[in-house]
Amino acid sequence: QLTINNLEISFKSEESQFKAIDHISLQLNKGEIIGLVGESGSGKSVTSLAIMRLLEANAKITGEILFDDKNLLEIPEKEMQQYRGNKIAMIFQEPMTSLNPLMKCGKQITESIILHLKINKKQAKEKTIQLFEEVKLPEPQEVFDEYPHQISGGQKQRVMIAMALACNPQILIADEPTTALDVTVQKNIIELLKRIRLERNMSMIFISHDLGVIGEIADKILVMNKGQIVEQGTAKDIFLNPQHPYTKGLLACRP
Ligand code: ATP
Ligand code: MG
Repeated sequence: QLTINNLEISFKSEESQFKAIDHISLQLNKGEIIGLVGESGSGKSVTSLAIMRLLEANAKITGEILFDDKNLLEIPEKEMQQYRGNKIAMIFQEPMTSLNPLMKCGKQITESIILHLKINKKQAKEKTIQLFEEVKLPEPQEVFDEYPHQISGGQKQRVMIAMALACNPQILIADEPTTALDVTVQKNIIELLKRIRLERNMSMIFISHDLGVIGEIADKILVMNKGQIVEQGTAKDIFLNPQHPYTKGLLACRP
């Protein structure tokens, strides 16, 4: 469904050039969850932003990002807008990149639905409440009228997941969706994403620097280090038989 071939990304400034992604290739099949794991700065977010084509103009990108055989790096911006949200949705690492702090939670989603699905306000509100129920927000009606700062971190993640699902995407990219949460809430969000994957037969790219969290959810784990994928395999392969010294190091660091 999504194939990345030889992706290379460099950021250029006046005096230097920095290679953030160094020839990575990966394949995401329908209904599959792949987990991207690696330490801070390894290139996880840059990879996901490249798929959404949201990198700044100083990023030099080569390679291919194929969605059903169409290279997303080559289509016009107008067509890319259709892919964003409708086909591929992303939950950003910074909550306030996904959610507008000045707009009530419900309105953020109804506006996005109205923009993409061309339905009226009342239907959009109904759909938003349904989405809030799907992501198991305890008080959907209340949350609809609250600002993001009025709800807990776990609830914010649920609102962001609802927002990402609003336009029925085929792929969800979740960039560190559980990092800022305590362990119990983390587990609940992971359970939620697993359930959504099954119910909607969605594919996901789940990003985390925590190998434990990735092991809970991913069918296939890709270990990133310094812009490269140094190892990939099932959770069993990675946990029981790691090959690369970097992966062995990651495992050794776990509590
Ligand atoms: P974290 O776990 O901290 O989120 P990450 O794996 O997501 O880390 P990235 O955000 O993908 O890391 O960054 C990879 C590298 O690219 C870093 O060295 C970062 O400084 C660099 N980088 C990212 N965005 C830019 C940019 N717009 N301009 C220049 N360098 C950038
Ligand atoms: Mg990141």
